[in-house]
Formats: sequence, C-alpha cells, structure tokens
Amino acid sequence: NKFDLYEQYLNNQMVRVLKTIGYDRHYKRAVGQYLYDQDGSEYLDLLSGFGVFALGRNHPTIAHALKEVLSLELPNLVQLDVSVLSGLLAQELLKTTPDNINKVFFCNSGTEAVEAAIKFARFTTKREKIVFCEHGYHGLTMGALSLNGEEIFREGFGPLIPGCSPVPFNDIAALEKALSNKDVAAFVVEPIQGKGVNLPDDNYLPEVEKLCKKYGTLFVADEVQTGLGRTGKFWAIDHWGIKPDMICMAKALSGGHVPVGAVAMTQKIMDTVYNRMDRAVVHGSTFAKNNLAMAAGLATLHVLKEENLIETSAAMGNEIIASINAMSEKYEFLMEARGKGMMIAIEFQSPKSLKLKAAWAMLEAANKGLFCQMVTIPLFKEHRILTQVAGHGMNVVKLLPPLMLNQKDRDHIVNSFDKVISETHQ
Ligand code: PMP
Repeated sequence: NKFDLYEQYLNNQMVRVLKTIGYDRHYKRAVGQYLYDQDGSEYLDLLSGFGVFALGRNHPTIAHALKEVLSLELPNLVQLDVSVLSGLLAQELLKTTPDNINKVFFCNSGTEAVEAAIKFARFTTKREKIVFCEHGYHGLTMGALSLNGEEIFREGFGPLIPGCSPVPFNDIAALEKALSNKDVAAFVVEPIQGKGVNLPDDNYLPEVEKLCKKYGTLFVADEVQTGLGRTGKFWAIDHWGIKPDMICMAKALSGGHVPVGAVAMTQKIMDTVYNRMDRAVVHGSTFAKNNLAMAAGLATLHVLKEENLIETSAAMGNEIIASINAMSEKYEFLMEARGKGMMIAIEFQSPKSLKLKAAWAMLEAANKGLFCQMVTIPLFKEHRILTQVAGHGMNVVKLLPPLMLNQKDRDHIVNSFDKVISETHQ
C-alpha cells in the first residue's frame, strides 16, 4: 500500500495521451536551473515557472524548511490566534521595504494581493476609481482582471468592476489628467511591465509618486513578478528609490513551492482597514499565513541573502543583455535585448528579407502572431532551453531565469541564440 507518487504520475491519463500522440518526453527531475527528462537529458529552464523559482527548483533550504515545519508538528492555521511564523516573515520583509511601509497582509497568490490592494485603497480613501496601465497585468480574478491592460484577457467576462480606467505606461501627463479630479483611490502599476518587459523612463515612477501624493491617490506597486531580486534589486522600486503606499508580492516569495501572496503597506492603511472597533471582519482568507508558505518565505529571504543572489544575478543579467544586443548588428530582425537583472526581453521585428518574410507570414497566420516561435521552438528542440513568447505583439522572447545562472549557462544561452537566429536568418 505504499504511496508512490511517481508511479501515479506515470500512469496518469494525461501522460498516456501525450505518449499516444508521440510526445514521449516528460520531466523526471528538477534541480536548480535544470530540468531532466526520463532519459536524463538536461534542459536549461529560463522560465522558472513564470518567475516563481528565483532560487531554482527544489532548493535544499526551502525543502528543509518545509520538512521542518511538518516534523516539528507546529500548530498550523490556529485561526484567531497569533501566527508566529507570519509575524517573523513580516518582520523580515519589512527590513527590505522602504521606510514608509511597516505592515504586511498575507494571502495566497498575486491576484489575491492585487484584490486586497484594490479593497484597501477604496476603503482607506473612500473613493471608487482605480487607474491602471495599458498592457499591464495584475492577475485574472474579477478585481485584478478589471485592471488588466490587454483586451484579450478581459473579453467575454464583463461587466468588470466599475470605476477602473487605463492610462498609457510612461505617460505622466495622462496620469495627471486621470488623477486631477481627486477622486481616484489608487494607481496600480508594475514598476517594470511583465508582459513585454517594458521599462519605465527614469523619471516616470518618481513623478508617479509625486502625482499620487498631490491628488491623494494611493500608489500601489505590483511587484508580484519584479520583486524578490528578479530585477537585480530586492524590489524593482529600489532602482528609483521611490516609496509607494502598497507593494503587492507573490510568485518567488515562497521559493516557488507553496502558493503565497502579500501586500506590504503603510501603518495608516493597515490602521484604517483593520484596527477598527466597529468591524471585526474586513478582509482575509482561510489559508493566508499558513505555516508552509511562511516557512518557505523565511527560507527564501535567507537564501537570497546567504547566496548573494541578487547582486550576482544583476551582473549576469546585464552580461546576457549586452551579448545579445551585440548580435543585433548582425541580424536585421533582432531589434534589441532589454531588461533589468534576470527579467529580460529579446524583441524581434518583422524581417525584411523575402524568404524570412514568407516564413514569418506563415507562422503569423498559423499562430495568430506568435512569430517568435521561429526562435523559441529551435531553442527548445535543438538547444534544450525553455523560454516564452510574450509582449503585446507576441514579438518578444522572454527570459525569467533562476537567479543563480552560471557562466556556462550564460555561454549556452548566448551561443544558442546566435545559432538559432543565424539559421532562421539564412
Ligand atoms: N501581477 C503581476 C505583475 C503578475 O506578473 C502576475 C502573474 N503573472 C500576477 C499579478 C498574478 O499573480 P498570480 O498568477 O499568482 O495570481
């Protein structure tokens, strides 16, 4: 009666169906930045489960923390009582946030963190409107979806929550116009937009902070993707030294193993929402603050620091960006590599050569614009590198690698890109 997870996995209907259509590969092991299939072939994972495995997969310290929580038989989810581990994690997180931020609310995902921020903003300011950015992404539940800057995600799910309207990213004048009636509860923005890795102009976020203060709007930084060292600083806001009123986080916070989310905020917001005599219940969730998520969070912060991952990954990210940019002179349809730290976009444009144009047009027609598959498919098949097609026009190959890539990985990435692009280009 042994419980054998791997056997169950192999006997799974899904794996069987995949085999019948000739897809006979499955990943059997995952360690750090590598995945291994059933034959032991190694794949370099530059996707990290959409950014959650900043520490790589199955990091021993995270595994240890999770096992320890269970083996110590710590009381979990003793609702209405003090949660010791969540207090510890909040304390550690607050060492990393700007000095105006001193409270943390925990939940179970990025979209939940954004939902909470919307509710907290409305409750605190007694205003209804929320402003967000075109091409932004904040999750897919109804509140977060209402702030989604791509029509394709919203289509068919309306009516979404009222009072939400977009402004272009990087457009200070448009934001000022949107906030100037002093009736907007919050401006919710990713410091670096995740979908196509759109970077803000250097004055944008500092100006956003000033405008939000001027018009009494709460400034919510959605760091679900950019946080926890992804961009070469602990928070992306640290690149500009700004102080939002709320910071949403999730993804890498638990080392990728346990669902988790959080909103860090000012004392004033926390007091307005929670420290009330007239209402016992305001907002929360049954599994928030669960021991596994909190322990994994504490272990994650420990590893980021101990292994000096943020600093080393920032340098490695810059090297990858510079090496790929150096190739753009050779290849007309490689536009640029951009990003910060280990959040990298490699953007392509429609090629000018006739042969490429024909291939491109075919792929575009077949894949509704996913023409970057010309690059991502051979990268995967021939070089065993996992990447993702992204961007507004699906013209970007996006890399969110684990933070501990080494020089061998870097060379493999750069050489593989060079080879794939030159072969596509012939
Ligand atoms: N905000 C941002 C910036 C994100 O990148 C994501 C996830 N891609 C979310 C929110 C939603 O997070 P989750 O998928 O954990 O709900």
